[in-house]
Amino acid sequence: MNGEPVPRIPPLEGCLYCHREGTTVLSTERRFLGPRRYPLLRCNHCGSVAEFDYDPHSADDWRIRYRRVNHDPRYYYVAVHYRRRGWVSASDALDISRRGYAQRMRVFQAESGDLSWLVPLDAELPLALRAGEQLMLEMRAVTLREVSPTLLFVRPNRGTVLDSGKCYLSTHRLLLHGQRQPWAHDLLTIERALYNDRYWLIIAHDAERWVQYVGSYLEDQLDPQLFVTVVDYLALNRR
Ligand SMILES: [Zn+2]
Repeated sequence: MNGEPVPRIPPLEGCLYCHREGTTVLSTERRFLGPRRYPLLRCNHCGSVAEFDYDPHSADDWRIRYRRVNHDPRYYYVAVHYRRRGWVSASDALDISRRGYAQRMRVFQAESGDLSWLVPLDAELPLALRAGEQLMLEMRAVTLREVSPTLLFVRPNRGTVLDSGKCYLSTHRLLLHGQRQPWAHDLLTIERALYNDRYWLIIAHDAERWVQYVGSYLEDQLDPQLFVTVVDYLALNRR
């Protein structure tokens, strides 16, 4: 393909990963071993490197596989999704890129306290809401564990399971509509909230114990980064 005109294909116009325009460079350097070798697409802005398989005569028919990506939190969504998928078709790659951009904007908004994109929820809960309290988010398949303060951090599967069910984030509290009973922790009792590419985890305490709320990354609900960002903002606001 050397010497052939490079067609106008989206990843060559702007980076799918960081969304800058005019920063991607295609090289035919042969670096990866394998039955076929593909040109490498690099971004001078975010440093991502992807194998790029395309037909110069068919601008819609391409696929991409990221080999090196930037792990800055602002690229969380694209990092998780491109890395999970290996080779990604043109339509899927564009879809991930679009969602990744929207996700990044949402995280910026949430960090700066703009939660106008969240529609308050209406849910039947066995616990009464407080005056002025509104439900903001619902997360499925959440486990609540009692944890020892010495084992508190980072591990999601330590401690005694207390309950599991749907978790709600309100303007005031974290609530669990558990299979055994309802649970609630004021956002003021949250000690730490964190996330990675597989789950989110929130540590809180009440008069009796330390607990951990953990939810897996499920494709069809808010992702861990955005959830934790909203929790952090609301918790800070309660103080
Ligand atoms: Zn980039």
